[in-house]
Amino acid sequence: MSILRGVGIGQGIATGPVVRMAPALPEPAHETSARGADAERVRAREAMTAVAADLQQRADAAGGAAQDVLEAQAMIAEDPTLTDEVDARIDEGATAEWAVHDAFAGFRATLEAVGGYLGERAADLDDIAQRVLARLQGVAAPGVPDPGHPFVLVARDLAPADTALLKLDQVLALVTSDGGPTSHTAILAREKGIVAVVGAADAAALTEGTTVIVDAAAGTVNDSPTSEELAAAAERIASRAAEDATPAGPGALADGTPISLLANLGKPADAADAVARGAEGVGLFRTEFLFLGASQAPTIEQQRAAYVELLSAFEGRKVVVRLLDAGADKPLAFLNDAHEENPALGLRGLRALRASEDILREQLTALAEADAATAADLWVMAPMVTTVEETAYFTALAKEYGLRTAGVMVEVPASALLADRVLAHADFASIGTNDLTQYTMAADRLLGSVAGFQDPWHPAVLRLVREVGDAGARLDKPVGICGEAAADPLLAVVLVGLGATSLSMAPSALSDVRRSISQHTLEDARRIAASALLADDAAGARAAALDAAQH
Ligand code: PEP
Ligand code: MG
Repeated sequence: MSILRGVGIGQGIATGPVVRMAPALPEPAHETSARGADAERVRAREAMTAVAADLQQRADAAGGAAQDVLEAQAMIAEDPTLTDEVDARIDEGATAEWAVHDAFAGFRATLEAVGGYLGERAADLDDIAQRVLARLQGVAAPGVPDPGHPFVLVARDLAPADTALLKLDQVLALVTSDGGPTSHTAILAREKGIVAVVGAADAAALTEGTTVIVDAAAGTVNDSPTSEELAAAAERIASRAAEDATPAGPGALADGTPISLLANLGKPADAADAVARGAEGVGLFRTEFLFLGASQAPTIEQQRAAYVELLSAFEGRKVVVRLLDAGADKPLAFLNDAHEENPALGLRGLRALRASEDILREQLTALAEADAATAADLWVMAPMVTTVEETAYFTALAKEYGLRTAGVMVEVPASALLADRVLAHADFASIGTNDLTQYTMAADRLLGSVAGFQDPWHPAVLRLVREVGDAGARLDKPVGICGEAAADPLLAVVLVGLGATSLSMAPSALSDVRRSISQHTLEDARRIAASALLADDAAGARAAALDAAQH
């Protein structure tokens, strides 16, 4: 029959037989407990604690983004409000099974009603509830099947506990009927480079054992492929594998225009993986990630050791280190521990560094010392720069320490709109599209209820990027992109068309972005960008760019 449509994650393609996720446990009966409230409370508590411990163990085994997700789930499993809800039902005479089922369902409904990012977390709650129920009933928790051969996993939505421990050599692709591009299935598939199509509403109709083609680039699942279609898919799979195995050359457009493809890193230990994936250097090293949770400022020695380790991995290559970016989503108590009503608009980024100039000077000292001891091409930049005066302050200070290349992050509309004045005082600009989108759209990037606004495809954001790109071209200064936007293969082309000269991203995104930009000339990229700029909204810009890229 048919082609199912959903949201593709990444650009991969896979073929294989469908294996469906084990079905959920049946809803427990709503009956009065024969054991009595005290015994039921103990049973419920024991099961929830055991599930939390199991999730914590999975978190420790998983590492990476999966670890954070699973740790959050472990906390939900023992959440005091949920526990109170469960107890309240037991006090009314319910069994532990019913109380858990009903209390979790209540939470799920609340999340779904909020919608957006939080709505997409609803599947996480179902998974925890199922695990607790399985524990109470003494049966195995529903989970990823293990048929003993590679397969395409089809599920309603995958819980983080499942995706985190997927055997990558067995799972050819993921197809879910629920979940959107920001669901955990999508986030983790992206991180692990698994071919995935999420939110394919008709996936429930896929039957066990059917051979399907999962095409993430097209966002489709073909459940009755012809032999020609299977052959074409096999060819694409082989050519992607061959490209991944070939050492990547420097990033370039189809006409040879060089576009450096760089890595976003949070710790020096991730450098080797970035190099293996073809990173030409580092476009954003988030130094605050080294010290999150610290109550005191790191010493010069601690910092120097970390920077030396980083720079040593990139001998002869560019490494852009961002000075500590404290505030809002990245709290650093030693830079600002004041309670602020609107921390995203508060004393953060360069503002916080400047208020503790001794810490800023220590960081510049450590960077200069690490630079002197290594052979990478160190660039330094300040976070959250708003004004021309701040730009001049930071670059002058960096030069005082002998740091040769000093620039600023453009993450605030004010500095984007005055990019020509800002760039007059800086060696380069790097656009942080995550914050630039947050401030342009007036939507807190941490708030699920406004997640729909947080889309860097919005033409208002693109126009600001153009301001910076144009200023960079006029003044002959590099303009990089280091927000998530650079990891979107089509948006990357648009950003280049708007004047970006380098793109920095999570290393797992490098090969798809490399391939995407290599298919377009600079003239193409400018034409595609121009069509996106004319749209009314983010969806329109994406559709216009896609259309322009295909013609
Ligand atoms: C950004 O804001 O786009 C950025 C790269 O910085 P961070 O995500 O660390 O705030
Ligand atoms: Mg930022």
